[in-house]
Amino acid sequence: MNICIYCRSELPSKVPREHVIPQSFGVFTPDLTLDCVCSVCNGYFGSKLEWPMLNQSIEGALRLQFGLKGVVGGVGTKGVTPTVAEGDDWKGVRTAIRTNKDGKRETELLPQVGARRDAPEPFQWCLERDLRVEFGQQFPKGSEFRIVGGRTFADIERLVQKLVAVCPTFLYGGTMKPPFNDDGGQIMLEVEYQMSRVVARCLCKIAFNYMALTCGETFAISREFDDMREFIRSDVGAETGRVFVKQKPIIAQEIITGQRGTEGHVVTLEGRPSDRTLEVQLALFNSVPYKIPITREYIGHHYVRGHHFDLETREVTELEVKIAGPNFDPSKITW
Ligand SMILES: [Zn+2]
Repeated sequence: MNICIYCRSELPSKVPREHVIPQSFGVFTPDLTLDCVCSVCNGYFGSKLEWPMLNQSIEGALRLQFGLKGVVGGVGTKGVTPTVAEGDDWKGVRTAIRTNKDGKRETELLPQVGARRDAPEPFQWCLERDLRVEFGQQFPKGSEFRIVGGRTFADIERLVQKLVAVCPTFLYGGTMKPPFNDDGGQIMLEVEYQMSRVVARCLCKIAFNYMALTCGETFAISREFDDMREFIRSDVGAETGRVFVKQKPIIAQEIITGQRGTEGHVVTLEGRPSDRTLEVQLALFNSVPYKIPITREYIGHHYVRGHHFDLETREVTELEVKIAGPNFDPSKITW
């Protein structure tokens, strides 16, 4: 009898294919899928984990760069805060990245005000929704103010009204031209990122799927993974200790050369008897590398596998590179 690796319900003869890497992050050959996830779990993951991840993660924003089908709407309004990274006058301004109806990425300034007491000081930016008396009180008479963002004159009007209400020293001094034109994205952005619980669960789901793919469904249903299963499927359990951001890339060559070798997805699985950890490393678009320990009660032999999802050729290949584990010492590597 086959059972679902997430909810343990009995599987009918036909189940939807569960993609190891969600299809919104590309369709690849061969198509790495599982046939041990029931339709209820599969549907739940699509709407409750993968969909929110597209709008709340760095990876979700990055997929637009690679021409993966986007939705019209905002990216980076929740969890991800891209800010302008250059220019004395604009540094720190909050932006949102949006997809227009042609699927193109646009950068837009969020409605906000900036203020500083004196010229060499950097502007402190405050989003319209966070504008309170406490913000205004920090800026005495003679302070300098900026109002940016919004699409229309009415947006600016509204911001002026709000600023007047919270900040008695405010004097209106005109508007400024935004640091980029309608083509957008021509300015360097910095991204502040707070991973949400749903994104953490989605990353864990990808990791668990990959483990089921490489180790098999019988292994995946063993009880030692129940804690992880419940976190992913039932939203139960603490978030801490689930997803770690690695300081270094996953691929050893990249650590040594200091250069990115790919913009594709990288996923690896390592079973380490030395610290009893079975761990997935995952970097979508080879961007932020995550470590996701599936269990810390691993018993078995040392085991390493990895795959690379090439976004140009859309091919999946088994990684032949050496994987940089926790004891990785670049000086001891010979190619
Ligand atoms: Zn299920």
